[in-house]
Amino acid sequence: MDFNQITSFLDKTSSRLETSWQLSSLSSIAGLRVPDFITGRQDSILKADINVLWTQWFLESICDPERFVDNYPGYAYIIHAVKNEVPLLFGNLEPYNHAEIIKQISRLIDQEISRRQKRKRIAFDSKIKYLLWDIYGPEPRCWICGYQFSPWAINKFLKNPTDDDAPKPQFIDYLKPIGLTKRDFQMEVDHVFPFSDGGDDCINNLRIACGWCNTYKSDRLAIYDVAARPPVVYHPQMGRVTIPHPFWTVRLLSLRRQCEYEGGCDKTVSNTELTVTPKHQEGALNPINMRVTCLEHDHLGSKRFISRTLAEQILKK
Ligand SMILES: [Zn+2]
Ligand SMILES: [Zn+2]
Repeated sequence: MDFNQITSFLDKTSSRLETSWQLSSLSSIAGLRVPDFITGRQDSILKADINVLWTQWFLESICDPERFVDNYPGYAYIIHAVKNEVPLLFGNLEPYNHAEIIKQISRLIDQEISRRQKRKRIAFDSKIKYLLWDIYGPEPRCWICGYQFSPWAINKFLKNPTDDDAPKPQFIDYLKPIGLTKRDFQMEVDHVFPFSDGGDDCINNLRIACGWCNTYKSDRLAIYDVAARPPVVYHPQMGRVTIPHPFWTVRLLSLRRQCEYEGGCDKTVSNTELTVTPKHQEGALNPINMRVTCLEHDHLGSKRFISRTLAEQILKK
């Protein structure tokens, strides 16, 4: 990409006030290829997730899975609904291709319905918990962020009676504010691939996550599943700052699972608790500027931790 292309891309895509309400300017923006410097290190997550979201919207536009979560009339019903739409959408294809596409789209919608139905079921029996406990060993960590569980969390998970109290940290990482509620430090069972059909509760698909990561991971799939405009809070030393949406942090941590320090670092979620930091120090913590870090390679230093009282005021869910 040469100088002119760079400046023209920035110019065309940033002047939103003049362009965002004019269809003609939008088409010229839509035709541009997004240069690598825009998406940077998180390029594949940003591009993959937008495609995932578009496909999700496409499937929902043909048949809304939400209508069938409580009362599913069966696969045949979905086939019927899809059958009416496919010839209109793919008029250029031969009828025998239509049959295949109808099957594929119906299967995907059917999978999405069962995924949403499963969303409601969260209880795991103690057999599965002990099995996971065996795999994780005596000092388990959250598979997403590397938080090391306390004896309180372990006993609670295994349903052992305990006198331990939940940890209550006096300082909170404002970029990954774990510890404001008891649930944050709890051990919970997480599905790695919420989409996997049939094998959802297979032990290979289960991991132990902390309550904080699990709360925000929820059943979201793409970084765009949360508002594009991240929250802004008032930091005691830095003033108004943008903080990442917790799901962005969880998505990035669960995909990277290691410190992304350029000089190389051996810290991973198996041996350390990780968090996120801005790549450009003066920049907002959005998915383009976020980087997974260990505390050693974090340039924010003590600014990262704010008092519990303040965190409760500005960050409480
Ligand atoms: Zn975690
Ligand atoms: Zn590091």
